[in-house]
Amino acid sequence: LLGQTHSTGILPPRDLFQPERPNSRGIDLNDENTLRSLSNILDTALPKTEGDLIVTNPSNHADILSSVTTAKPSAVENAVTAACAAFEEWSNTPADTRATILERAADALEEQMPQLMGIVMREAGKTLANAIAEIREAVDFLRYYGAQARRELQDTTPLGAIVCISPWNFPLAIFLGQVSAALAAGNTVLAKPAEETPLIALAAVTILHDAGIPQNALQFLPGGGETGAALVADTRISGVVFTGSTEVAHIIQKQLANRLTATGTPLPLIAETGGQNAMVVDSSALTEQVVRDVLASAFDSAGQRCSALRVLCLQEDSADHVLTMLKGAMDELKIGNPADVDTDIGPVISADAQKIILSHIDAMRAQGFPVYQTHLPTECANGTFVPPTLIEINNLSALKREVFGPVLHVLRYRSNERAALMECIRKTGYALTFGLHSRIDSTIAELTNSSSAGNIYVNRNIVGAIVGSQPFGGHGLSGTGPKAGGPLYLRRLLSRTAALDTR
Ligand code: GLU
Repeated sequence: LLGQTHSTGILPPRDLFQPERPNSRGIDLNDENTLRSLSNILDTALPKTEGDLIVTNPSNHADILSSVTTAKPSAVENAVTAACAAFEEWSNTPADTRATILERAADALEEQMPQLMGIVMREAGKTLANAIAEIREAVDFLRYYGAQARRELQDTTPLGAIVCISPWNFPLAIFLGQVSAALAAGNTVLAKPAEETPLIALAAVTILHDAGIPQNALQFLPGGGETGAALVADTRISGVVFTGSTEVAHIIQKQLANRLTATGTPLPLIAETGGQNAMVVDSSALTEQVVRDVLASAFDSAGQRCSALRVLCLQEDSADHVLTMLKGAMDELKIGNPADVDTDIGPVISADAQKIILSHIDAMRAQGFPVYQTHLPTECANGTFVPPTLIEINNLSALKREVFGPVLHVLRYRSNERAALMECIRKTGYALTFGLHSRIDSTIAELTNSSSAGNIYVNRNIVGAIVGSQPFGGHGLSGTGPKAGGPLYLRRLLSRTAALDTR
């Protein structure tokens, strides 16, 4: 009822370390020529725009990629005026036509997959496997929301101009997930991509315009906090879709709380925020599988996923064995420039992000917690890299906040402490992802029943939710719902009366 999504190890996850899923029109990873040409693509794909917001490559910050113009408050005001004016035309565009346009954009994304991969690899430091997954997920969002609009939204009423504020960690997939949902529902959109990753968002907006979204129905507003604040402060907007920190979500929520839509209902906010995600591993679990899934959960994307594993809870009886294997496997991960096709782990997004992560590691070390880190190759010196790091803690309260990087905390528990452990996890207030590894059915049942997380993963990794089959999102400090890529998402973007009518 709370909208949990359970996924078991039986279903093959989209394993981001093994990008062999068949791909109809994109990249053939078995073709060496294709892979070689990717490095050329990295040089040619970037939009050549100019402005005050300079975009650098996190693998090498001396590599300046391009720049865009920050949307200042006056530009935001004009954009909102234009988006409100465009609402009449777009909201009266039949749902079928809206869906067709989104599907056309999905086709274009697939056709331009190599170029788009080039941009996310250079701008966001995505590895090859992550770049492929990123484009695929964006395509999935467009097709999923398009199909839902066609099926369910023939006679519904949209809200108006919606502000979409997206993060840098999925700069195409989440950006397009938000934007396509709002557009599919018949709203116009003011899209503010993350400050760090405007180039891939610009490419996406161009694709949507070329596919047939009217220029003013989708406005591109790059910038940082000032741009976001101006957008949310404009009383003509009809709702906000936000992915980012819990703190900023609270600020937005407070601002919206004082305002009503044209039909007199509260302005909707869809927020996806952070997590303090845990995985519980009992002594019956298969160690090799645990190690593989922990690596993917904690270190894939350099740990820069809301869904990523932050706290691995190991039953005391098998903890030493698991940790020995895990440390050995961590040593095998290749950290470095994503342009090298065999890189497993790329950089963290910025110098600020790196500083926050490294100071957390230093603070934990200073408190006496054992820290294990893998070696950082010298080629990483020009970028903002953090080596995969494992920190053994003795209590969940040692963690004050989410650390958004490749840092895994390990907590040991005795079998009779499992219920208390689950209570501690619940008390963090976050409820996004939760994983468990066990070969005992009653333990699986007990743990899944006692977790409040939005997405629960059994005997598999805990990242890489798939649009349509694993709707993604949490509760409490982790977000408002409804889940992205799930059947309820579009309804929150409709006017309330109409949303109820569609039930
Ligand atoms: N949907 C992503 C996953 O399942 C995470 C999204 C996020 O980091 O916000 O890994």
